[in-house]
Amino acid sequence: MKKIVIIGAGFAGLRLLYRLSRALRGEAAVTIVDKSEFSIEKPSLPEVAFAGKEVSKVRIPISRAAKRKGAEFLREAVVRIEPEKNHVITESGRKVEYDILAITTGAVKDYDSISGFRNYGFSICDDIEADRLSKRLESFAGGNVVIGSARTTWDEKSTSIRLDAPCEGPIGEVMFMIDSYLRERGIREKSSITVFTPGKVFFDDVGESIHQELAPMIKDHGISVLNEKVIDSISKDHVHFADGTSIRSDLSIIIPPYRGPDVIINSELGDSRGFIKTDRNMRHGRFPNIFVAGDVNADSMPKLGHIAIMQADVAAAAIEREVTGKGNVPAPSPEIFCIMNRGDSGATVILSDILYGGKRDIAYSGKLASTFKWGFDSYYFYTHGHMPPEALQEPVEFFIKLMRTNR
Ligand SMILES: Cc1cc2nc3c(=O)[nH]c(=O)nc-3n(C[C@H](O)[C@H](O)[C@H](O)COP(=O)(O)OP(=O)(O)OC[C@H]3O[C@@H](n4cnc5c(N)ncnc54)[C@H](O)[C@@H]3O)c2cc1C
Repeated sequence: MKKIVIIGAGFAGLRLLYRLSRALRGEAAVTIVDKSEFSIEKPSLPEVAFAGKEVSKVRIPISRAAKRKGAEFLREAVVRIEPEKNHVITESGRKVEYDILAITTGAVKDYDSISGFRNYGFSICDDIEADRLSKRLESFAGGNVVIGSARTTWDEKSTSIRLDAPCEGPIGEVMFMIDSYLRERGIREKSSITVFTPGKVFFDDVGESIHQELAPMIKDHGISVLNEKVIDSISKDHVHFADGTSIRSDLSIIIPPYRGPDVIINSELGDSRGFIKTDRNMRHGRFPNIFVAGDVNADSMPKLGHIAIMQADVAAAAIEREVTGKGNVPAPSPEIFCIMNRGDSGATVILSDILYGGKRDIAYSGKLASTFKWGFDSYYFYTHGHMPPEALQEPVEFFIKLMRTNR
């Protein structure tokens, strides 16, 4: 019986858990290790902040997911990986041995790298921050709202596509949802909403037709956008930029820079920023029994759940082949697919592969978009991290194309 250890039960880790426990039943014992009791359904975090969703409705108990699949769940942080010895060491000093290791730890959102963030900044990147923002909003009486992503720097040798902001979709959700929130409370007139991006253009991971769909909506909602602004610090009533300018802010909502996790840096398994370069099978370059999927993989760009799932599928097939000698490993097929919640105005489905040299660049903001968003989030949460059946994705894609061509 092969011992498979998965570190991290987010999008990629749960996908691997489900795929491997089904494909390798009786041939492998799977252990999933996470420092948290819960896997966070991040696409719903803006709803926790702005739409009254209870934080318990984004927390998936990992123990239940593991138990159903006959896997062991270890609630501990992994502090070191010793690949020559084929074991990982947890914070309590426990050694967990493996034959095959999957690293799916995600990336660190480096709030502390922004001076002033802990005192004056807010975010939505995790359950604690989203809940904290919802509480701050209760006493917000209107004012200047500033929303933006910090710039992330990448190791040029390992990360081939280097976006300044690796996940700007949530910024789009925050700006539309806070607009709805302020309108509902009758304080939109007393408020301004300014969005900044470190990139040359806002949403620079998608193409022109998606920009053309979003630009009029941004204008109609009275949202101003500043391009090529790199945040330096936050003070009580300003956001300060690296070019020496600053903007008044009564509420600063930031996506901080991303970096690799400490366990990867301390174990010297990654690049200079703590992300891990793999081959096309998601296999570590130096240690062939280590696979890496999701935000921690240097090639996952933008850092999206959809890409984490695609990489986990490739890694699962490669691991299955390793253990059984059977099956084919699919080639990575990155694409951007996400559904942006726009509060009371609905939602926008975004599908694009322009960043990878493809030709698809589709946005659909019709009535069904909100249903797709609600359907995906509910399915993922109530099935403890299962993705909707693949058979459903193709009709959605077909529908979106149809709607575009019929306009
Ligand atoms: C607000 C927000 C909204 C988003 N919306 C979307 C969306 O609509 N669509 C989309 O595709 N993507 C979306 N994303 C991006 C998506 O959530 C991430 O890309 C995805 O979660 C990455 O999955 P992952 O498995 O790599 O990492 P994560 O989901 O971050 O999971 C990593 C897990 O590893 C655990 N871990 C980390 N270090 C250790 C350690 N040392 N020891 C043990 N456990 C550890 C963590 O506790 C965590 O459970 C959104 C992101 C945010 C912040």
